[in-house]
Amino acid sequence: MFQLTRRRRAHSDRAASAAVRAVTAASYDSPDPGMGGAVPGPADRLPPLLRQLRDPLGLGRAAQSRHTRGVVARTKTADKVVRSVCPYCAVGCGQKVFVKNQKVVQIEGDPDSPISRGRLCPKGAASKQLVTNPLRVTTVRYRRPGSTQWEDLDLDTAMDMVADRVIEARRAGWQWELDGVRTRRTMGFASLGGATLDNEENYLIKKLFTSLGAVQIENQARI
Ligand code: SF4
Repeated sequence: MFQLTRRRRAHSDRAASAAVRAVTAASYDSPDPGMGGAVPGPADRLPPLLRQLRDPLGLGRAAQSRHTRGVVARTKTADKVVRSVCPYCAVGCGQKVFVKNQKVVQIEGDPDSPISRGRLCPKGAASKQLVTNPLRVTTVRYRRPGSTQWEDLDLDTAMDMVADRVIEARRAGWQWELDGVRTRRTMGFASLGGATLDNEENYLIKKLFTSLGAVQIENQARI
């Protein structure tokens, strides 16, 4: 008796499943089973419980709303993809930057990067926010000594001011000798690099500051 009931129930489950499959086949077999592109079909009008007969875990199409099925990934509609490196830290994970209409629309991990092999940590994965944030400062900001206001400077003016200060500090802190020992160095400035600097940038910074006579040259990643 028990076995008969079980057989009947299994038969009725199979029949229900076949009925749903027949109704849903047209839309489930659409050419793009991934993100978007599918034309809403009869399956979209079925209650979620019935849709789950084809998707028992409810992790696939049964969980998709009609709106979700019409959504297309930004990575599919981009005009071009530019390879880049995450700007946040010295790991230097590879990124693919998706561009549409000259604007960054998405940033993903680059599977071809030997360093990260397609992975990004949460900071790197959110770096589109860094690029496109309307609060991002894109000009040189300067606050004069004693002032309470920031002002914009053009880059050439700012670079000249930096160069003047470097020359002045180098001269003011220059040491030819210390305790009778020849030093030929400046104690007027030091360099502290950030973790976002890559190998090439650190190499150039070390060359520059050593040639200027600085002795304290360090990077935040080593501290
Ligand atoms: S911040 Fe994260 S994603 Fe960016 S380089 Fe460092 S580890 Fe990689």
